[in-house]
Amino acid sequence: MTAERLDGKATAQAIREELRGEVERLTARGARPGLGVVLVGDDAASAIYVRNKTTACEELGMHHETKTLPASASTEDVLALVEELNRSLAIHGVLVQLPLPPQVDATRVLDLVDPGKDVDGFHPDNVGRLVQKRPRFVPCTPVGIMELLARHGIEVSGKRAVVIGRSDIVGKPMALLLMHANATVTVCHSRTRDLAAVAREADVLVAAIGRAGLVRADFVKPGAVVVDVGMNRVEDPAEARDLLPPARLANFEKRGYALVGDVHAPSVAPIAGALTPVPGGVGPLTIALLLKSTVRAAADALGAG
Ligand code: NAP
Repeated sequence: MTAERLDGKATAQAIREELRGEVERLTARGARPGLGVVLVGDDAASAIYVRNKTTACEELGMHHETKTLPASASTEDVLALVEELNRSLAIHGVLVQLPLPPQVDATRVLDLVDPGKDVDGFHPDNVGRLVQKRPRFVPCTPVGIMELLARHGIEVSGKRAVVIGRSDIVGKPMALLLMHANATVTVCHSRTRDLAAVAREADVLVAAIGRAGLVRADFVKPGAVVVDVGMNRVEDPAEARDLLPPARLANFEKRGYALVGDVHAPSVAPIAGALTPVPGGVGPLTIALLLKSTVRAAADALGAG
C-alpha cells in the first residue's frame, strides 16, 4: 500500500478559481478586495512569504499594499502602520507578517488589527469566536487543512484525531476545528510522554511541530490520514539523504538545501492511507484561504456599507 497523495497545490488552485468570479463581481460594485501587509525587518523567508501572498492577490485581480519598516522599528512605528491600514477604505484584510523583531511588542500589534479585517484570525475577538463555534476569521493554515480533507472526501466526524503542536497559529485552532467537526481530539506537545504511542491512535494525524522528519512509521496507524504542516529547511547532506526520496536528492545537491516536513515521508508513505506532500501540500492552501478571507471581508464591508 502507498498513501494517497493529498495534493494541496491542485486544491488551492481550485479555491482560487472559485474566487475569481467573486473578485470580479465585488470589483464591479466598487469593492475590489484589498490586502494590506505589514512587513518589518529583512528576514529573507518573511519577504518570500509576503511576495507569494501579494503575487497571489495580483493573479486574482485583487488590490494589495505592503508597508515595510526596518528591523530597528519600534512598537509605535508598527502600530502606526496597522492603524493606517485599519482606516484605509481600499483595504479589507490586514496582516502583520510574523515574526516581528524582538523589541516590537507583537501582542500589542496583533491586538490593534481591526477584528473585521483580521484575515489571519489572530485577534482575541476572533480567537474567542472560534472557541465558541461562531467563527468569523480563523487562522488560514488549519482552515486550509479542513478544506483539503473535505475536498478529498475525508470524513473526520467520530474519528480519533491527534494534533502534534499547540501553537496559536496552527495547533490550537486545528484542534478546535477538528473538535467542532466532531472528531475526538488529542493535542500533543513537547512535554507529551510516549508521543509515538499517542500518535498511533490517530485516524487523522496532524504534525505541526517544526522538526524535520520527527514523525516516523512507528507514529502512524496503518491507513491513517497524515497531514504534514512542517516546513523545515535542511542543509546537512546526511540529513537530506535520510529525509528525501532519491528523486529529490539531485535537486538538493544542486541548490544546497531542501524544504522538508515534520513527517519522514519515505517511511510513513508506505503505511499511511493518505499523506500531504511537502512542498505542495498544506503550504499553497494557506495562501488560498487568506485570499478567500480577504474576499469575504470585502463582501462584508460592501454589505455593511
Ligand atoms: P511553533 O509555534 O514553534 O510550535 C511548535 C509546536 O510543536 C509547539 O507546541 C511545541 O511544543 C511542539 N513541539 C516542538 N518540538 C516537539 C517535540 N519534539 N515533540 C512534540 N512536540 C513538539 O510552530 P508553528 O508556528 O505551529 O509551526 C509548526 C511548523 O509548521 C513549522 O515547521 C512551520 O514552519 C510550519 N508552518 C507551515 C505553514 C504552512 O503554510 N505550510 C504555516 C504555519 C506553520 P511546546 O508548546 O511544548 O513548545
